[in-house]
Amino acid sequence: MNLILMGLPGAGKGTQAEQIVDTYKIPHISTGDMFRAAIKNETALGLEAKAYMDKGNLVPDEVTNGIVKERLAEADTDNGFLLDGFPRTLNQAEALEQILTELGKKIDAVINIHVDKDILMERLTGRIICRTCGATYHKVFNPPTVAGTCDRCGGHDFYQREDDKPETVENRINVNLELTQPLLDFYEARQVLNTVKGDQDIQDVFKEVQAIIAK
Ligand SMILES: [Zn+2]
Repeated sequence: MNLILMGLPGAGKGTQAEQIVDTYKIPHISTGDMFRAAIKNETALGLEAKAYMDKGNLVPDEVTNGIVKERLAEADTDNGFLLDGFPRTLNQAEALEQILTELGKKIDAVINIHVDKDILMERLTGRIICRTCGATYHKVFNPPTVAGTCDRCGGHDFYQREDDKPETVENRINVNLELTQPLLDFYEARQVLNTVKGDQDIQDVFKEVQAIIAK
């Protein structure tokens, strides 16, 4: 079962990835892990990638694709794999198709966890921090017991990190939506795209995922 997992930040992709690899005993292949392993093992491509990263440059597609190919050629992927965070661009998706063809493999399903933008906004912009003691709350999911008062120190002064502010979050979501749409179109055209409603209980999301994998 060769799978690609997609979903915007806040859609709950990490939780589903964990459940998929636990249940189906397939390796979780994330871009970050792949890079770290290639660098740690000092493969030729790993060293090349490191040289770009050390200079603060983006790793070019041909290096990334080479690392993906090395990883997907390893024996632990023979019964399947879960790709997470790759491909990110249409070029990478096309390269992946080429790589898999060369390895005699193909993608069986792309699982896209979809959550409406307003719900993502609510999830991702809710974090507030007590300025006095640093205690962290979420306006919706984990608010202070008494509104506006820190449970730990009784302080009333809360702030948001730059990353959690609505305008920053909205921009991040929009950038991701724009990046993702061509990929969704690409896999839709290949009839492997499956969309799961991410705005429900984690176990219900996973049931939908299992139904997709079963067919
Ligand atoms: Zn406090």
